[in-house]
Amino acid sequence: MYIQSGELVIILGDKLVFRKRFLKSLRFRIIVMLVAVGIIPCLILKATILSNYEKRAVSLKISELQNQSMILCDQLDNADYMEHMDSEVINAELLQFSNIYNGRVMIVDDHFQIIKDTYDADQGKTLASSDVIKCFRGKGTNRYDMKNRYIEVTSPILQNNRRAVEGVMLVTVSIDAILDSAEILEGKANLVAITVFILLIGIAVLIAAVLVRPFGRISRAIEGVTEGYDESCNLHENAYTETELISDAFNKMIGRQKVVDDSRQEFVSNVSHELKTPLTSMKVLADSLLAQEDVPVEYYKEFMGDIAEEIERENKIINDLLSLVKMDKTASGLNIKPENINELLERILKRLRPIAATRNIEVVFESFRPVTAEVDEVKLSLAFSNLVENAIKYNIDEGFVHVSLNADHKYFYVKVVDSGIGIPEEAQDHIFERFYRVDKSHSRKIGGTGLGLAITRNAIVMHRGAIKVYSKPGEGTTFTVRIPLMYITQKS
Ligand code: ADP
Repeated sequence: MYIQSGELVIILGDKLVFRKRFLKSLRFRIIVMLVAVGIIPCLILKATILSNYEKRAVSLKISELQNQSMILCDQLDNADYMEHMDSEVINAELLQFSNIYNGRVMIVDDHFQIIKDTYDADQGKTLASSDVIKCFRGKGTNRYDMKNRYIEVTSPILQNNRRAVEGVMLVTVSIDAILDSAEILEGKANLVAITVFILLIGIAVLIAAVLVRPFGRISRAIEGVTEGYDESCNLHENAYTETELISDAFNKMIGRQKVVDDSRQEFVSNVSHELKTPLTSMKVLADSLLAQEDVPVEYYKEFMGDIAEEIERENKIINDLLSLVKMDKTASGLNIKPENINELLERILKRLRPIAATRNIEVVFESFRPVTAEVDEVKLSLAFSNLVENAIKYNIDEGFVHVSLNADHKYFYVKVVDSGIGIPEEAQDHIFERFYRVDKSHSRKIGGTGLGLAITRNAIVMHRGAIKVYSKPGEGTTFTVRIPLMYITQKS
């Protein structure tokens, strides 16, 4: 098959990405770890056994040579070989000794002259090596020359019942046989190590596949979510504690996503419903005018007044929705500055007092101390305005609204108390929801949109604050707000 250069680049690129992904994978790391854990002790064991074998074989050979040399030296002394070197028995024994051990035997006299060499090569030459000199002092020596692969043993030939050293027997033996069997052993050990290595790779690949399988299931489930989620999207991967934790976190995330989606859907349908209501009223009013002929001017005026009221209402809903959308944005949309909270509340009350006065509602402000805090003045004013407006709207004629401000070293507290109609206990948990109204028709009548408290709560939460409600139907309502004096940047 002919492959174009462009295709080749893509194939090579894909291969590179695959290799990079494989090298980074947990599966690869498990394989490497298991193989390393298995093979390293195996290699250490091999090296230890081989080196011990060689050492032991050499030391056995040395002690065997020393023993045999000592026996021969005794015979040499008994036969007075240093004086009568022509003893055939001894010469035969020396030859046999060198043949048995495949080595060389030399006898050196006290003038360091070689008087006997089983190789017949160096007879008559002088040999004054350090080992021979040492041996003349009465102690045999041994040396293992690893590089040239031989052992050298010297033994003293003692004269007259071991009183003087009259000569030295020097035996040199090749250790080729030992090293050859060590090499054979090493070859076998290598074969075993390679077999173990291959087996380990096989086992490690299997174990790695089993170990990473739960993670594969998790990633497939998460990929499935991109195609839309339902109840079956819940993960139950209990193979490990870690996968259990991932499953729990994933399910929580899906749950939260579902809640957000549901509430968004509900919000959209609520918005359309709320926006349609004034439009429907306007249409009914306009249609009824159009249906009649010769309508008196007063009728027109009255109906047009009603239509204007509905337009005003539509406008209010749209404005509240815009405020809510602004509040839904992240905290980065805040314009935080140090503000005098006493003045901020005074301004709100000054604006709302005339509205309260129309129903003889007394609005009182009590400040326990001057408070300056880092806040977004516009958003917080809206929040407090909504609370005071509600306290007036849902109040009885000639009632009161009591606003108080206090602070400690960390927070400032605003309390809005009214003597109004109160909120039933079962409704208290819902009043901060968008479009929630305890008495829909009453709220509509007095110009409520059901968005005020949602806006208030969002603004307070953006300031990392908290809002609480205490209320008894027929007695009144208290809203308490707590906001940090210093704006906290990080999300808590
Ligand atoms: P609305 O625009 O209808 O006032 P809010 O979100 O401000 O909407 O309030 C939600 C509902 O909570 C109101 O419809 C009302 O029933 C109830 N509510 C809020 N504040 C008070 C209060 N101070 N006293 C009694 N009821 C209140």
